[in-house]
Amino acid sequence: MFEIVIGLEVHAQLNTKTKIFCSCSTRFGDAPNTNVCTVCLGLPGALPVLNKEVVKKSIQFGTAINATVNKTSIFNRKNYFYPDLPKGYQISQFEVPIVENGEIYLDFEDGSQKRIGVTRAHLEEDAGKNIHHGSVSHVDLNRAGTPLLEIVSDPDLRSSDEAVMYLKKLHAILRYLDISDANMQEGSFRCDANVSIRPKGDEKLYTRVEIKNLNSFKFIQKAIEHEVSRQIAAWEDGVYESEVVQETRLFDTQTGKTRSMRGKEDSAEYRYFPDPDLLPLVIPDSMMEEGRIIPELPDEKKTRLVKEHGIKEYDAAVITSQSELAYYFEAMVNEGANAKMSVTWLTVELLGRLGNGVTLDTCKVDSTILATLVKRIEDSTISGKAAKEVLDVLVQEGGDVDAVIERLGLKQVSDDGAILAIIDEILNANQDKVAEYKSGKEKLFGFFVGQTMKASKGTANPAKVNALLKSKLDG
Ligand SMILES: [Zn+2]
Repeated sequence: MFEIVIGLEVHAQLNTKTKIFCSCSTRFGDAPNTNVCTVCLGLPGALPVLNKEVVKKSIQFGTAINATVNKTSIFNRKNYFYPDLPKGYQISQFEVPIVENGEIYLDFEDGSQKRIGVTRAHLEEDAGKNIHHGSVSHVDLNRAGTPLLEIVSDPDLRSSDEAVMYLKKLHAILRYLDISDANMQEGSFRCDANVSIRPKGDEKLYTRVEIKNLNSFKFIQKAIEHEVSRQIAAWEDGVYESEVVQETRLFDTQTGKTRSMRGKEDSAEYRYFPDPDLLPLVIPDSMMEEGRIIPELPDEKKTRLVKEHGIKEYDAAVITSQSELAYYFEAMVNEGANAKMSVTWLTVELLGRLGNGVTLDTCKVDSTILATLVKRIEDSTISGKAAKEVLDVLVQEGGDVDAVIERLGLKQVSDDGAILAIIDEILNANQDKVAEYKSGKEKLFGFFVGQTMKASKGTANPAKVNALLKSKLDG
């Protein structure tokens, strides 16, 4: 009876080498306060200069989500006090952002799609970081001035599942464009969720609550689910007006609940005004053209993979959901591995063996190794079953596929003579069963196959075993 209304704001850190308004490094993990200068420390008289890489990456993003890229946009001062913000204001974009009116499509398992509007994406600088040690707090300003693209969706999402699908799609787009590493652990892809409910059929938007700084897909889902049930319970208990107020809440990952952090400010309270130190940003035509050139995106790649390799739509969606996966798959196919087998050996067998912090990028099995393994199955050097054993070893130790096959003695025997020798042995040892088979007990055929495979320690080519046994027994 309730409809859930969710809008998401994502802060994506753009992966430029230097900060948005100065030439300090954006490197993560350096000693505190080593990547700072007069500009990002907010010293009096220091003047900001816009980094043009930031503009180029924003144009690419706008192009990717089919948005309007404004030729002219304006930088504002957003005034508030916080210890990690030495200037007393953050430079951001307010009335006129660089990107407006975009769209992102969600893909459902049944092949249908849903359009989610992207209201705007604006440029801003990040603040520093407060670090608390017991009763003392320190401020690290290395992050102050790091470029952020704040991407705001329309309130088009109707469930926590849709919210996560949207975020994964957005994450993939940023990674394909290579404009952000979107690393959630390091905070370069952070999400705030605006959540409200309304009776089904009601068009009006009710009070929205903002949940801040969610940095994993799992927590985002849990936080939204908890917040929705809190609001519904308040409505049903008749205390909606007093319990659900416009505010910012934090999600406690320990308790799985949200709690109030502060009342949500209205934008008027920030006293936005155009930054007098920065001229309006006017994008030159040449830069606009350059920014329009973007790499292949997940949706296009998906369509192409289905068409070129005949793999299933759903498999293609899984493969293209992450750029690393897509590039790995394409590399395997380029090495000559069968496309359908590559899907299974990559998404089921290899990914199923990773974990514990080991990712596709850091594991010991690269695309050449996995492609070689698939080719050895295709040319009957080994059976699929044996290949799983080989992969177990490769994941642990890496190394050469053929050497591992050799070492484990898993090379498939396809030589007729060798297989016939084993078959003769089995039939000799089981003459009673041969007689039964010949008198009509045909299901014993499976027994002979099993015995032959066992005697060959699983290395006999099963198709050959079947054919040779047939001709021996029936011939
Ligand atoms: Zn600086």
